[in-house]
This record gives sequence, C-alpha cells and structure tokens, in this order.
Amino acid sequence: MTRKVRVGVVGVGHLGSLHAKMFSEMQEVEFKGVFDIQGERSKLVATEFGVRQYRSYGELLEDVDAISIATPTSTHSEVASKALETKVHAFIEKPLTETVDEADRLVQLARQNNVMIQVGHVERFNPALLALEKYNLNPMFIESHRLAQFNPRGSDVPVVLDLMIHDIDIILSLVNSPVANIDANGVAVVSDSADIANARIKFRSGCVANVTASRISQRKMRKMRLFQRDAYISIDFSEGTAEVFRLVDASDSSANATMLLGQIGAGARKRNIVYEQPEIKEINALKYELELFVKAIQTGERPVVSAEDGKRALQVAQEIIARIQDQQFRL
Ligand code: NAD
Repeated sequence: MTRKVRVGVVGVGHLGSLHAKMFSEMQEVEFKGVFDIQGERSKLVATEFGVRQYRSYGELLEDVDAISIATPTSTHSEVASKALETKVHAFIEKPLTETVDEADRLVQLARQNNVMIQVGHVERFNPALLALEKYNLNPMFIESHRLAQFNPRGSDVPVVLDLMIHDIDIILSLVNSPVANIDANGVAVVSDSADIANARIKFRSGCVANVTASRISQRKMRKMRLFQRDAYISIDFSEGTAEVFRLVDASDSSANATMLLGQIGAGARKRNIVYEQPEIKEINALKYELELFVKAIQTGERPVVSAEDGKRALQVAQEIIARIQDQQFRL
C-alpha cells in the first residue's frame, strides 16, 4: 500500500480554505495543518477541519511532504522557494508567480531539490473540457470570453494575470505550436491596472486565438469556441457544458450524434453534419486537481499542469501586459 502524503496549506483565505476542505476529505492524505499570517484565519480553518494551527510556516514545512500555496500571487515566489528548499513538493495557485524570472527560479529550485511543482490552473479540470478528450482537437481559430463582475479580490494584479491566464493556459495546452506574435489592448477602468483586456495571439502554425477578459462586466461569462477543419466546438466553463458540430463520413457509425443536422457532398463521399453534446462527468475540478497532485507525488509521474506549463502561460500573459503598456504609452 502506498504511504499517505502528509500535506499542509499555507494561506487559508478564500481559496486556501477550499483547499483545506478538499484535503480533509482525501483518503490518501494525512492533512497535518495550516498556516496563515492572519492568526484568526488559520485558527478558524484549523478548527473547522480538526487540524493543527501552525504558529510559523517553517514549523509546518518540517511536518509535511507537500504544501499547497494559496497566498496572494505577489508572495508565491518567496513562499514556494522556502518549501522547495526544504524538499517539500508544492502545489502553487495560479498564476505561478508574478514575474517570469521568479518562475524560472522556482523551476530550477524544484529540479535541484528533486521535488515537484503543480500549478493551480483549475480550468484544465473543468468537466466540460475533460469531456472533449476523445475528440481530436486541433483548432485553427479560437475565440474566448471570460467576463466577471468586479471583486476587489484579485484586483491587485492586471485582469490578464487574474482571469485571462486561465484561457491562455488552456489555449497553450490545445495548440501545439510556438507563439509567433501577440497584439493586445486593455483599459484600467476602475483599478490601477487593466480591468478589461483583449489579445490576439498568433501561433507559428497559423492558428489565431482572440482572447477577451474583463472583471468589470455586468454578467459572468466563461466561454471558448474552437474552430478547426471539419468541426466547431463550443465550451461553457461556467455551465460545465460542451457542444460539438462536426462533419463525419456518412458511413461512420462511431459518431454518437444527438442530432443529424444535414448532409453535404456528392458522389461516393457523402458527409453528415452532426451535433453532439458530449457526456459530462460530475467532477469537482478543484478536488480532482489536488487529488492528481497527491497522485503525482505518490507515483513520481509528471503533474498534468507542470511548473513549465505555468511558466509558459505566465510568459504569454506578461507579453500581453507589455503590449497593453506599449499601447498606453502611445496615447
Ligand atoms: P485571499 O486574500 O482570500 O487569501 C490569501 C490568504 O493568504 C489570506 O488569508 C492572507 O492572510 C494569507 N497570506 C498572505 N501572505 C501570506 C504569507 N506570506 N504566508 C501565509 N499566509 C499569507 O486570496 P485568494 O482569493 O484565496 O487568492 C489566493 C491565491 O489563489 C492567489 O494567487 C490567486 O490568484 C489564486 N486564486 C486562484 C483561483 C483559481 O481559479 N485557481 C481563484 C481565486 C484565487
């Protein structure tokens, strides 16, 4: 039997308290305790889940194999470095760090100390996206919208780092080609950094992603549309649903279409236009990503969202922020 993984959580605000809840429910985990610079927060969460409230981060690190870091983004680099230096595996909430240099240093520290980092890009585990695994996704045009109502939490960083980075990470996982060019625009409407941003990311393969994120919208929306040869796929991350419209050979009986929309083609090659709603499994994305983190520690396998993935998403996000700043200097 594999040994339980001893886990702690540092930073038990909004998201960290959810991490604590998830770990408290896992068979494979010995949940040791929590630390937060606000003693009241850690006391509350430690009491709720019946674990130890640590008085210092150092003491918590001595007692665990792995730490989950849900402190503000500006502190990730420092908090994660301490863990990696003491040979503790780290789950780090997204974005991995604030700067690419900090991300580079964490990648190096993890290698030197032979420990693993997983980054909290939780949308990769959204059941609507997981339901598309059986399709051969190879989009050539992507349109995404992630719109939220204003919430001061997260507004310490531009909307690109807070919200858009989810879509950037997903797009980079779908498009197997280097980024060739980025164009971007954004406006700081209520905070000191861009609250709404749009980027056009062009890949060397010719694929283009048009990505919009806003934290000053009236209504919430989290949608991505993928267009590729023979298929159009629409994903609703908020609703947890996906729709697929595709062309299949009329003789292909494997297509499990909900609806036949029509037929095109002449002669021997007739093709059906089919509409499918892939079956969506009931998955708690946060719990699933943390379970996979624990499993990766037990098996030594590469985590689904590695530090390198987190760094790539951050590099693209920082380039978008730089393009937005260039455009503001021209005004
Ligand atoms: P929050 O402000 O609610 O919580 C942060 C907590 O960290 C606070 O309790 C604070 O006291 C504590 N803290 C600050 N510095 C600390 C330190 N050095 N050591 C220990 N504790 C410290 O913030 P939040 O909304 O929970 O966000 C935390 C992180 O999670 C951010 O990086 C954010 O980007 C990320 N996040 C990710 C998602 C997602 O969808 N994956 C959603 C929300 C937030």
